[in-house]
Amino acid sequence: MNILKFGGGILKTAQAIEHLTEIVAKAERPSVIVISALDKTTNNLEDILKEFVKNDIAKVEKLLEKVILFHQNIEKGLNIETDNRLIFDEIRNIISTQTYSGDYDYQYDRMVSLGEIMSSKIVSACLSKFNIENQWVDIRQIIITDQIHREANVDWANTEILARKRFTENTIYVTQGFTGSSASGKTTTLGREGSDFTAAILAYTLNARKVEFWKEVRGIYNADPTKMSDFVFLPKLSYHEAVEQVYYGAKILHPKTIKPLQNKKIQVFVRPFYEPDFTGTEIVDISELSKDFYPDTPIYIIKENQILISISPRDLSFIAEKNMGKIFVLLAKYRIKANLMENTAVSFSICTDDNQHKIQLLLERLKNDFIVRYNKDLSLITVRHYTDAAIERVTADKKIYIEQKSRQTVRFVVK
Ligand code: ASP
Ligand code: MG
Repeated sequence: MNILKFGGGILKTAQAIEHLTEIVAKAERPSVIVISALDKTTNNLEDILKEFVKNDIAKVEKLLEKVILFHQNIEKGLNIETDNRLIFDEIRNIISTQTYSGDYDYQYDRMVSLGEIMSSKIVSACLSKFNIENQWVDIRQIIITDQIHREANVDWANTEILARKRFTENTIYVTQGFTGSSASGKTTTLGREGSDFTAAILAYTLNARKVEFWKEVRGIYNADPTKMSDFVFLPKLSYHEAVEQVYYGAKILHPKTIKPLQNKKIQVFVRPFYEPDFTGTEIVDISELSKDFYPDTPIYIIKENQILISISPRDLSFIAEKNMGKIFVLLAKYRIKANLMENTAVSFSICTDDNQHKIQLLLERLKNDFIVRYNKDLSLITVRHYTDAAIERVTADKKIYIEQKSRQTVRFVVK
């Protein structure tokens, strides 16, 4: 079994979907094709719900129209037909004032998961048009999760049983990324950009031989090519280095993706959609080689839109276990991930994504017990395998708020 995952960023036009079918035509059987929502559909669906809750019905209608037209035009361009009009009805149903329950996260999952249904149905129909035998599978009947909407956790044991029962034929399966369902049958999602993780879940449970992530880029570089110049291409990367990079915020793959693949030593490739004969970057087990591949190549990871929050007890008491405990309970409660932490005797700082809504709630709660200060619009820069020149390159003309150095990695919070 092979798993091929195609991201929404490359699936923006009818031509792109036809190009996908050419790649799939050459895939081994059996394979599972995991599809993200087309282009910006997830954001658009998110916005429909947001505007609905704000009661801006004119905006809702405009966005809805945009989503529907976009998908209809793709179908027209491909000269195919799907039953996606039922999905358009479903969108309307979710935002009908009569039935809206107010459980935002639950409604969010119902809404945004529809993007992947539409895209995967289109891909399946397009494969059929080119006589590529395939079966569309509703992944919600396979990937079972808990009830944590928008960031559901996988029930691996049950998912494995269901996946092995379902994917038994020597054919091409097409399915939705990003989505699952709780044991009680409610649609859940795995976190934004979660389709990569779907591919990894299927690879793990089906003992796949190989997973290919088809992307806009040639593979993995030592820096985000959209943010830095003179980047270098990395033909091979160890699982370990890949995990480190996604942990620090590299956008190569969804952070949860590598572990299941590493655990079963499944072959992983990040491949360029428009250069299908090129292997891209292969992520491999380092034990095959005696040392890391690029010990001398600095790897840059930049996370923007960061907020640095400094928390001090009101009475100058030490930041000890009890205070730390209080802070971590709140971080867990609002599901805020500390991208970097630092503590001194009387203050504790965390750098995190400035997700304004969640952060506002956190700040309010923290202020009950602590003196809280913060700085916004910061960047968190990580350099692996750093050199003096690499550090100079990313910190020149910047104001440094925090610097943390270990043997392999240096991190800066800067403005
Ligand atoms: N469509 C979802 C998102 O944009 C999942 C994915 O693309 O991986 O977050
Ligand atoms: Mg997407």
